Formats: sequence, C-alpha cells, structure tokens
Amino acid sequence: MPPGMGQGGHGGRGYLTEEELANRPKVTGALLARIFSYLKPYWKQLVLVLVCIVVSSYFSLLPSILTGRIIDEGLIGRDLGQLIKLIILSLAVTLGANLIGVAESYLNTWIAQHITFDMRNSMFRHLQAMSQRFFTANNQGDIITRMTSDIDGVKTIITNTFTNILSNAVTLIVALVAMFQKNSILAFVGLLVVPLFTLPTRKAGKTRWTLTREAQAYNDEINGVLNETLSVSGQMLVKLFGKEDYEYKRYEELNRKMIGLNIRESMAGRWFRVVIVTFSSIGPMLLYLVGGILMIRYDQSLTVGDITVLVALLGRMYGPVNNLLNIQVDWIRSMALFTRIFEYYDMPLEIENPPDAKIPDEVTGTVRFDHVDFHYEPSRQILKDVSFTLNAGDCIAIVGPSGSGKSTMINLIPRLYDSTGGTVFFDGMDVKTLDLRWLRKNIGIVTQDTYLFNGTIRENLLYAKPDATEEDLVEACRKANIYEFIENQPDGLDTMVGNRGLKLSGGEKQRLSIARVLLKDPALLIFDEATSALDSISEKAIQDAIDPLIKARTSILIAHRLSTILAADEILVLQDGKIVEKGQHNELVALGGVYTRLYETQFSKAAQVPARTQSSDEEAVETMTSEHEA
Ligand code: ATP
Repeated sequence: MPPGMGQGGHGGRGYLTEEELANRPKVTGALLARIFSYLKPYWKQLVLVLVCIVVSSYFSLLPSILTGRIIDEGLIGRDLGQLIKLIILSLAVTLGANLIGVAESYLNTWIAQHITFDMRNSMFRHLQAMSQRFFTANNQGDIITRMTSDIDGVKTIITNTFTNILSNAVTLIVALVAMFQKNSILAFVGLLVVPLFTLPTRKAGKTRWTLTREAQAYNDEINGVLNETLSVSGQMLVKLFGKEDYEYKRYEELNRKMIGLNIRESMAGRWFRVVIVTFSSIGPMLLYLVGGILMIRYDQSLTVGDITVLVALLGRMYGPVNNLLNIQVDWIRSMALFTRIFEYYDMPLEIENPPDAKIPDEVTGTVRFDHVDFHYEPSRQILKDVSFTLNAGDCIAIVGPSGSGKSTMINLIPRLYDSTGGTVFFDGMDVKTLDLRWLRKNIGIVTQDTYLFNGTIRENLLYAKPDATEEDLVEACRKANIYEFIENQPDGLDTMVGNRGLKLSGGEKQRLSIARVLLKDPALLIFDEATSALDSISEKAIQDAIDPLIKARTSILIAHRLSTILAADEILVLQDGKIVEKGQHNELVALGGVYTRLYETQFSKAAQVPARTQSSDEEAVETMTSEHEA
C-alpha cells in the first residue's frame, strides 16, 4: 500500500455526525480574530514552525526525485561515483527532513501546551467567578468537559490540524510541480487516477465510522446496565426483587450484539483494503503503460528514471490528497470547539465586586432585610417582601415548611444570589456595595449538605484558616464536640475523611464543618440544620456544640427541631416565601397559626421521640422537610 494510504479513513476522524453538521458554527471574522488572539503571543515560534514544515515537506520529497537520477545517471549511465554521491545525498536529505521534523514537533507541542495552559488558567479563573446560579443550572460533567477535553481539543487542533494542512499542502504542491516539470502528459495521467484511490478509501472510512458509532451506542448502553446493576444500591434492588436472571439476559444480549458489530467493523476495513490496494496499483501501472508508450514510440528524451520518479511522486500524493479532503471536517470541528469554549468565556459574571467596594474596619454581623423579593426564574417568585432585622449578638431562627425559601433567604446574605427586589443589609450597608471577599469572610455558614474535600480532617480544617496552630485546631474541635471522636481515631487529626467525607457519619461531618467555621471565626454564623435524621446522641452533640456558639455571636438558624428553635431570641415563620409570623415560641404557639401547626406536626413530636434511627422513611415524613440540595 502506498505510504499515507488509508489515513483519515479510520476511527471516524474524517466524518461529521448529523448533529455536528446541523450545529456547525458560524465562522465570522470576529471568531477568527479571537482564535488568532490566542496564537498572537507565540507568533515568533509559529513562524519558525511554518519554516520547518515547508523545509521538511520539501526535503522529504527530494529522495523520490533523486531516485530518477540514481536510475538514469548511476545505474543506466553506469557511473559508480555518481551513484554513491546520489545515494548519500538522498540519505542525507531524508535524515535532514526528519531532524527538522523533530524540531517542528517540539516547537509545535510547546506552542500548543502554552496556549492551552493560558486557556485553562483563564477558564478556571472565569469559572470561579461565575455565580452559584451557573453551577446549579449547569451539569457538572459539562463544566468539567469544557475545562478538560474541549481545551485538549484545542491542543490537537494546533498540533495536528494546523500542521497537517500546511505540510500536506506543501507536499502536494511540490509533488505536482515536480511531476509537471518531468512530463506534463504523465503528470496529467497521474492526476486523473487520484480519485481512483481516494474514493474507495473514503467509502471504507464512512462504513467503518457508521459501525463504530453503532458500537459506541451499544457500549453506552452496556455501561448503563453495568452502572445500574453493579452499584451498591442497584445490586440491592436486583437482589431484593430477584432480578438476577433478568439482568443477566439483558446484559448477555447486548454483549452478543456487540461482538457481531465488532467483527463486522474490523472486517469492513479488511475487505475494503483489498479494493483499495487493487485500485491504488492501477495508478502506477497506468503511468508505466502511458510512459512506456511515450518513451518507446514518441519521446526519446523521456527516461526510465523520469517514469520512476513520476510513479514515486504519485505514491507520495495519496496521503496528502486524502488528508486535505478531510480538512473541511477538521475545520468545522475546530470551529465548533472554539465556539463552545468562547461560549463559556462570554457568560456574564452575575455577581461581581462593586467598582468602589467598601471594606469597613469593624464588623458586628447584623443583618437587615428590607422588602426583599427574590426569584430564580422570573415565572416563580420565591421570596416575597421579606423584612426583618437581626441585631448584634442576637440569634434568629427561621422555620417553615420544606420549600418555603429558608435556604434561599440566607443565600442572599453572602451574595450567592442577589435579591431581585428590596435590599439586604449587612452591618448596616447594602451587601451589593460591600467588598465580596470581606463580606464572605465575615459570614460562616454550616450547610445541611456538608462538603468536605477528600483529604485528612486536618486539611479540611486548615482550609478555613491555613495558619491555624495545633491548639487552634484542637480547641475548635472541642467546641464543635468532635474532638472526642477524632481522638479515638488511630490517625487523629490525620484521619482521611474519604471522598466528599463519606467515611464519616452525617453528624460527624456536620460537627467537623462546625469546627471549620469556628476556625474561620465569622461575625455572623448561619447554621442550616440538617433535615435528615440524626440519632438523638448525634443531635445532642450538635446541639451542645452550637448552643454556646450562638450565644457568643450574631447568628441565624434554619431550624427543624424544637431544641434549636428554643435557643433563638426571635423566630421567623416563613411560608411560600413570606414571613407570616414573628415572635417567641410561646407567643407563636398561642397564635394558633402556621407555627402552631408546624409545632404540633414536627417540632413537638421530634422532641418527644428521642431515640430516632438514621434515615428511616418514617423520619423523612415526620420532619416534613426534604433533603436540601446545596
Ligand atoms: P428545605 O427546608 O427543604 O431545605 P427551604 O425552605 O430551604 O427548604 P429553599 O431551598 O430555599 O427551601 O427553596 C425554595 C424554593 O426554591 C423551592 O421550591 C425550590 O424548588 C426552589 N429552588 C431552590 N433552589 C433553586 C434553584 N437553584 N433554581 C430554581 N429553583 C430553586
């Protein structure tokens, strides 16, 4: 098979899916200029790469051209000296072309790596500045894909697409010029046979591509079955419903279809190769035939060497022609990739530091909501005209049915979201005028869904205060009522918490996150009590941890249990995003309204049933609240 034959025909590289075709991006001058702006800092290296490509492509064709002289002058002319000279020259040129190739790949990789380095860093910075809304609205997988494979794709474009276009174009042009210089009739014949070898290659590629995509679809399905059935909860379901045979059959059938497809896929390539090789040998034969007729009958100046050169050059055209035919595909893919990446860059930063952000000297942690409205989607108002004041050192408890907007309310204070109406004040100042970092530094939130990084307890604690001493850590853990647990671990503070802290129980995680917030030492402490069940011992441990804390500072509790509520100075009752009742426990119970109903169904029961088991269904119903999604 000629060199370069079959490139671009496999792996589907050369074909666009219907989806890709339908979503092909609009290539505008602005888009190109933007792409170019990433290349600009490296223009000197790029020029060097360009020179390398041109020189090495030209050099790599020279041996084919020299073959003619080796035959005519060396072999037929019986000149040993000339023969040796030409052979050495040919070898030297090949070596030179390859050495330049090495330099070119190095430069190319260097540029690509630096461009993706720049892109990754700026994308990471940009994403970190994106609002909470962005992260809740977008699939985590999508975000990671942009950061990883999309930007990796850019690297491939620079190292492959760019180089391929250039080197193929140069090779093709040099080969064509050399062929026409040797003999225009034969060059013309050579050109005519080009479609003979490119068409079957493309057809083979297309068939394989279709099969590969079919196989991929089955593969996804198989992975789905494996994921579903071999996961912890999936296996439990299978076992409890006695579905082992059913799942086995489902898997076996998919597996069987997959084998058939795989065999067909590899054979499709094999049969076509027979066709391709046959077709591709027609070209050289035709050149020998026409060349022979010309040489013997009509053109005395045409030599054996010339014909050999023409055949060799024709062989060198297969690869470039095939590759250049695929360039449109590469081009569309590249543009789509850049468009996807730029789409992320162009997303507005919803919550930004104000231009002349205030950084007050003192902080007390007071909060005031003044007729605050909020919605995630314009079609659904979540908070309606919420007003309340939290004075320094006081503690407010927010209670209300699940979905009434409690977590939403507290998210407005550190500006995870901005109110859509009214004003939120922190320390007497509109939060939108305060320095974001300062604001967030002074607010500590213990969420329901505690997030711990995969690492040790110590690392998780130090996240809040990198310069904390051992004593600081121990004190925080003691205050959070988690120190006893830590002491009992063989590795103490260096115990690994597992992925997302999964090696710890819900209660332990929450107490650890209380310790973490304590190290941060914020002026305002917000505690979003877990709705999920904790046994009474864990609950008491948490209660004992937070009681002294809320006495010591300004705080807000989202409460689900009577014991927590009773610790507060004032209770806000939220229903459908409105504060419907306000006051102290006894006053509210006497009112006989929403609070009374909550008290009767939820809080009092919770207080009466001390020994509750973790995560029983009954518990979930009792607490009336659903698991909060952070
Ligand atoms: P729970 O006690 O169950 O945690 P909650 O009172 O804290 O409930 P919120 O989490 O504030 O309730 O949610 C209030 C409403 O806003 C819910 O109906 C919820 O579906 C909706 N909501 C919450 N987060 C979003 C979001 N990111 N996008 C759209 N709607 C949301």
